[in-house]
Amino acid sequence: MSSSDFSHADVERAARYHRPRYAGTAAAFGLTAGVYAALAWSPSGSDLWRLVDGLGWAGSAAAWAALVVGVTEGVQLPVSWWRGLAHERRWGFSTQSTPGWLLDRLKGLAVALAVTAAAWTAVVGLARAFPGWWPAAAAVVLAGGVLLLSYVAPVVLEPIFNRFAPLDDEQLGADLRALGEAAGVPVRDVLVADTSRRTTKVNAYVSGFGATCRIVLSDTLLVAAGAPEVKLIVAHELGHRRDRHVVKGTVLAMTGAAVCVVVVWALLGTRVALPRELPVVLLVFTLLELAGLAPAATLSRRWERAADRCSLELTGDVDAFERAHVELARKNLADLAPPRLAYVLLFSHPTPPERLALGRAWAAAP
Ligand SMILES: [Zn+2]
Repeated sequence: MSSSDFSHADVERAARYHRPRYAGTAAAFGLTAGVYAALAWSPSGSDLWRLVDGLGWAGSAAAWAALVVGVTEGVQLPVSWWRGLAHERRWGFSTQSTPGWLLDRLKGLAVALAVTAAAWTAVVGLARAFPGWWPAAAAVVLAGGVLLLSYVAPVVLEPIFNRFAPLDDEQLGADLRALGEAAGVPVRDVLVADTSRRTTKVNAYVSGFGATCRIVLSDTLLVAAGAPEVKLIVAHELGHRRDRHVVKGTVLAMTGAAVCVVVVWALLGTRVALPRELPVVLLVFTLLELAGLAPAATLSRRWERAADRCSLELTGDVDAFERAHVELARKNLADLAPPRLAYVLLFSHPTPPERLALGRAWAAAP
């Protein structure tokens, strides 16, 4: 780490913010797994199941899915509140009221209920109709669901939580479109999200593909960063588009869904036709997710480095690269020296010092 970028006090302060958050993430994983295990095998789980038993297989599957998702959310609520609101307020990031935060949770819960109930009812139905080859059918249906959700997310899911407006700075918009032309990925939509109604943190991302593809900048970013830094960040997002990271990520998620089905088939066989088995299935998914964290983070960091190099190639602006990444790190209080385990499992991006080193290596290369 170059000592001029961040002081020892910066590193310490970021660590004080992040260490409890890692503990919160671990607690959330543990609680989720514990709730699924309790719902699967404890007497209270059986009592709850009796509330929905006898609704017919489809009714039981959908209602049990709603109950399982609802109970899990309820047990998680204190940890979610601490992670999403209390700790964020304490560090001056959250701009949300408690009712506003609760409304977000309710919306998220409604989406989770709908998706889980639909998926579980489909899987139980397939296992009942085709006991011999339900895994093949379920893998196709779940992978198709992942593809559909990834495609419609920018126009169906994201607007549930944020409002998006076209960038209204015409000069900047023209510059960004020119960058897109240079990258060989013409930009149709650069949108601004009303991120400031939840947080002071800054952010940019690319989502969707084909007709739903767009680059989204947080309104907080436009306030915090100058035009050269915004261009640099959009050039980074163009790198993701040029290398088709959203499409590749979606294909990987579809493959992951199919793998989950195969593992569940190996463990449960035709018991999947019983709606009662959902908590076991979700527990298996949670453990597979845990096993997938490190490979997913490794791949994501590789894609982020590729996008960082693209941002440098497109703009040639090493100064803006350095300013943008120092400013992003300060604004979001990014962890500058994370514990090894947190880095391996959770870091979708290289640390700010790693990104700055990449920029300087790029500038120094002949
Ligand atoms: Zn990125």
